[in-house]
Amino acid sequence: MAKRMILKEGDPALNRKSRPVTRFDARLKTLVEDMLETMYDGEGVGLAAPQVGVLRRLFVLDVGDENGAMVFINPDIKDVKGEQEGMEGCLSIPDLYGVVKRPMEVLVSAQDKDGRSFEIRLTGLGARCVCHECDHLDGILFRRRSETPLITLDELKKLLDEEKNEVSPEDRVDAEDKERQENASESIGEALTDYGAGTPDEEYAQEL
Ligand SMILES: [Zn+2]
Repeated sequence: MAKRMILKEGDPALNRKSRPVTRFDARLKTLVEDMLETMYDGEGVGLAAPQVGVLRRLFVLDVGDENGAMVFINPDIKDVKGEQEGMEGCLSIPDLYGVVKRPMEVLVSAQDKDGRSFEIRLTGLGARCVCHECDHLDGILFRRRSETPLITLDELKKLLDEEKNEVSPEDRVDAEDKERQENASESIGEALTDYGAGTPDEEYAQEL
C-alpha cells in the first residue's frame, strides 16, 4: 500500500469525466488499497479515483458506520429520496466548506473490487458522500453545488459569533436567516471532509 498525491482544485483532471473500470485485476486492487490509505491519512470519509489522477469510475468511502470501508466501482445512483442541507468539504479543496443540498437517501448499484455487482441503500452522510464522489467521476467539484461561497471553519465560527452577539430583543431577525443560521450551526457537527482536512472536533461543534 502506498499513499498517493491528492490533486487540488485547478488541476484539469478534476474537471474531466472518468471512464468505466473494465479490468478487475491486481492493479485495480492496489489502486483501491492506496485510495483507502490516502483517504484515511487525509482524515476524509470518501475519495474518488480522479482525485489521485486516475480517470476511472470508482471511489472509496468510510463514513464511520457499520459498513466500514466500502468500494464502489462503476457506481450508478438508481434512486434518490428526500433532501438534506449541510456543510460539505473536499480533500481537493482543502479547508474550505460550503452548504450543499443533497438527497437524504440514495440507492446505488456498483461492483466490488472483484467485479461482483451489489446494490446498497445509504442515508444521511453516506448518501451525501456517494453523491459527492459520483460528482467527482463526472468532473464536478462541490464548489459548483454550494449554495454559499466557500469559507474556512474559522470564518464560519466568526460569522456565527457575530450573528449571536448582534441578537438583542430589539433585533428583528429575518425568520429565514435565523433558520439558515441554525441549520449551519447544526451541520457543522457533521461537516464532511472527503472530504477534507480539518474536521471540526466535537467540542467545537457543541460550542456552536
Ligand atoms: Zn471531493
